[in-house]
Amino acid sequence: MAERVGVYGGTFDPIHIGHVAAARAVREHLGLDRVLVVPAGDPWQKRGRVVAAPEQRLEMVRRAVEGVEGLEVCDVEVRRGTASVTADTLEDLVAPGRDLFLVLGADAVANMGTWRRLEDTRDLATIVVVERDGERAEPPGSGWRVEHVPIPRIDVSSTAVRERIAAGASIEDLVPAATARYLEEQGIYTRGR
Ligand code: ATP
Ligand code: MG
Repeated sequence: MAERVGVYGGTFDPIHIGHVAAARAVREHLGLDRVLVVPAGDPWQKRGRVVAAPEQRLEMVRRAVEGVEGLEVCDVEVRRGTASVTADTLEDLVAPGRDLFLVLGADAVANMGTWRRLEDTRDLATIVVVERDGERAEPPGSGWRVEHVPIPRIDVSSTAVRERIAAGASIEDLVPAATARYLEEQGIYTRGR
C-alpha cells in the first residue's frame, strides 16, 4: 500500500497550537502515515510582513513537532530560499509509492487562484481542506481530488501571537512550550516593545 504523506505549508511566523491541532486532526481523519510541516522560505505574498528569519521559523516548527507522533518538520522550502511555489515543493516530495495530501485552511484554498503553477498542482496531490466551525471551500476549477476535514475553531493566529509578545503579554496558551522557550531565548518578536 502507498505511503500517505500530508504536506502542510505556511509562514509559521510563529507556529501556534491551531496549526499543530489542524495537522494532528488531518492525520487522524485521513489515516496519514505522517504530516510534513513546511515553513515557507520566501512567502512572497507576505513580503514585508514576515518578521522572523526563515531559519528561526524552521526551528520554531522543529521544536513544536518534536515528540508529536506523525508530525515532522520539512526544510525543503527554507533550503530552496526562492519564492515559495507549492508545485515546486510537491515535486520535491513526490516519490514512487507515496501519495501526497496538501493540507490547506479554507482561507488558503480561497486564495489558490493567485498561485503560481496552479494547474501543475492538481496532479501532484489530493487537496485537504481544513474547515473550522463549518467553513466550506473548494479549489478553483475542476478535476481536483479533494478531502474535507472539519475541525473545531481554535481562535489563534500568528499575528495575534506577535501582538501579544509586543504587548508584553503571555503566549503560554497559544504556542507549544518548546517553541515559546526558543522564541523567548532568541528575543524574536520583542521589537517595538
Ligand atoms: P496570519 O496571522 O499571518 O494570518 P496564520 O496564523 O494564519 O498567520 P499561516 O502560517 O499563514 O498562519 O497559516 C498556515 C496555514 O494554517 C494556513 O493554511 C491557515 O489556513 C492555517 N491556519 C492558521 N491558523 C489556524 C488555526 N487557528 N487553526 C487551524 N488552521 C489554521
Ligand atoms: Mg491567517
